[in-house]
Amino acid sequence: MKRSFSGSERTTYLRQMEEQDFDLLIIGGGITGAGIALDAETRGVKTALVEMQDFGAGTSSRSTKLVHGGLRYLKQFEIKMVADVGRERAIIYENGPHVTTPEWMLLPIYKRGTFGKFTTSIGLFVYDYLARVKKEERRKMLSREETLEKEPLLKQDGLIGGGYYVEYRTDDARLTIEVMKKAVENGVYAVNYAKAEEFLYEGGKVKGVVVVDQISGNRYRIFAKKVVNAAGPWIDTLREKDRSKEGKRLQLTKGVHLVFDQKRFPLRQAIYFDTPDGRMIFAIPRGGKTYVGTTDTLFQGEISNPRMTSEDRAYILNAVHFMFPTLNIREEDVESSWAGVRPLIYEEGKKPSEISRKDEIWLSDSGLITIAGGKLTGYRKMAEEVVDLVTDQLTREGHGRYQICRTKEIPISGGDVGGSHQFPQYIKQKALEGTKYNLTEEQARRLVLLYGSNIDRIYYYIEQYDHEAERYDLPVDLYASLLYGIYEEMVLKPVDFFIRRTGALFFQINFVRKWKKQVIQCMADQLHWSEGEKERYSLELEEYLLNAVTPSVSD
Ligand SMILES: Cc1cc2nc3c(=O)[nH]c(=O)nc-3n(C[C@H](O)[C@H](O)[C@H](O)COP(=O)(O)OP(=O)(O)OC[C@H]3O[C@@H](n4cnc5c(N)ncnc54)[C@H](O)[C@@H]3O)c2cc1C
Repeated sequence: MKRSFSGSERTTYLRQMEEQDFDLLIIGGGITGAGIALDAETRGVKTALVEMQDFGAGTSSRSTKLVHGGLRYLKQFEIKMVADVGRERAIIYENGPHVTTPEWMLLPIYKRGTFGKFTTSIGLFVYDYLARVKKEERRKMLSREETLEKEPLLKQDGLIGGGYYVEYRTDDARLTIEVMKKAVENGVYAVNYAKAEEFLYEGGKVKGVVVVDQISGNRYRIFAKKVVNAAGPWIDTLREKDRSKEGKRLQLTKGVHLVFDQKRFPLRQAIYFDTPDGRMIFAIPRGGKTYVGTTDTLFQGEISNPRMTSEDRAYILNAVHFMFPTLNIREEDVESSWAGVRPLIYEEGKKPSEISRKDEIWLSDSGLITIAGGKLTGYRKMAEEVVDLVTDQLTREGHGRYQICRTKEIPISGGDVGGSHQFPQYIKQKALEGTKYNLTEEQARRLVLLYGSNIDRIYYYIEQYDHEAERYDLPVDLYASLLYGIYEEMVLKPVDFFIRRTGALFFQINFVRKWKKQVIQCMADQLHWSEGEKERYSLELEEYLLNAVTPSVSD
């Protein structure tokens, strides 16, 4: 029977996990862990996953939200990585067009800029070639006039033209949850707010972990033949517990993004542009907002909750002012922000933005398998490498034979829309269907874009529970999203819903302020919170709302 992915079933699942012997236990529910879980289970490897926060709450909800090959890495001659990751873009898009979508990117070219006209033309050609980009999406070179037509806000002084090429925009946290949902649908046991506290060994080999439920405090012993450390920026913390932190290690760097309302920063076109100190950053329009980032600075602070500092904010505002001088953008225009920590592999003597984004697998004497580095975009290939290793080891140890990787052809949850070419038609049809549930076509369209083929579940909640939405004084589409989140996406706290399931705290912060009280009351009823829990979770949301706009003094 298909298991639900419900927040109210976590304790049951943790108990069931304790009673089984898994082939594979994954620590970490970011995109890396989710990808490994889906790949493994669909090859016949019996898999469990534990995540100490919410799924995607680490780096996988804090990125620039691009599925991209990383044009700038060409400059560092990381040809293989650009080619591998570049090719992944089309696969990720095909398997989940509701979460990932092509976006034309403009690279303005200036006299004495990072890229000249000739190097941009060649660079983008190579980029497209390596990524095997389809004909209609290949780069175009633009004149100065064409560049300004695409984006009139650009600095005109020194502008000589532009490169115009395709990248893919995504929602990192939703990509993570959709991959995780698909993994669970295939049989994976995955639980959030469940921390791998210590390793269990047998004859010096790791055989499982003690997991502590971060909500109840209960402890569980979960056993598996293989354990993968996919803890992103925390992998070294786990290697320390395993006494295997030697040789290579991580170098953490922090990246901050700022969000502006389109009324204040009416950017028409995604731009990849030079900063005054010779780096390159993005400005991207999205859902009535414009977001800009990222910084790249060494980080030694508390990993769980990195924040924007006043220097980070000043750096980005200065870069915006440099490229969009007529805007006169100011601190008070920043509507929201987020910060993330990159788990990069340490390289002697390199500056943060020079460190490679490649991934590596490290094996400890205890058998612990650690996956380090990498990018959101490369998650499927990284998963393939890890699961190849796991299945090889299992087969050699006499535990049977396993299939080869199939994830290239597996749509993620919500991705059953008949392929990317059918998606526009699918949106139209389902948006029209939404009017039967008293939604406007626009409301329904937004829901289809968010949930893809899971839209039928949202319509189910609307049909069954619209009278309850009225009781909570909530719009019916918001109420249905919330119920879907709780019962089918393991939403446990208001921040899970407002940050990682909807992205609202970043891109619709006033919407969060408007509906938080009703959402919290509804969650308290559905999840049977005590008064203490309700107060704690409300305060946590308030803290995130405050931190999104208030810089911290230091990291
Ligand atoms: C500012 C910034 C911008 C970026 N932009 C892009 C981009 O545009 N495109 C791109 O492709 N990549 C981008 N990246 C890189 C990308 O975001 C990361 O490579 C990716 O999200 C890492 O995923 P992960 O699953 O390895 O780590 P995480 O998402 O951090 O997941 C690790 C998880 O492990 C959990 N965990 C840790 N310890 C334990 C434990 N003891 N028990 C249980 N769970 C544990 C954590 O809570 C966490 O959720 C960016 C990164 C940053 C910081």
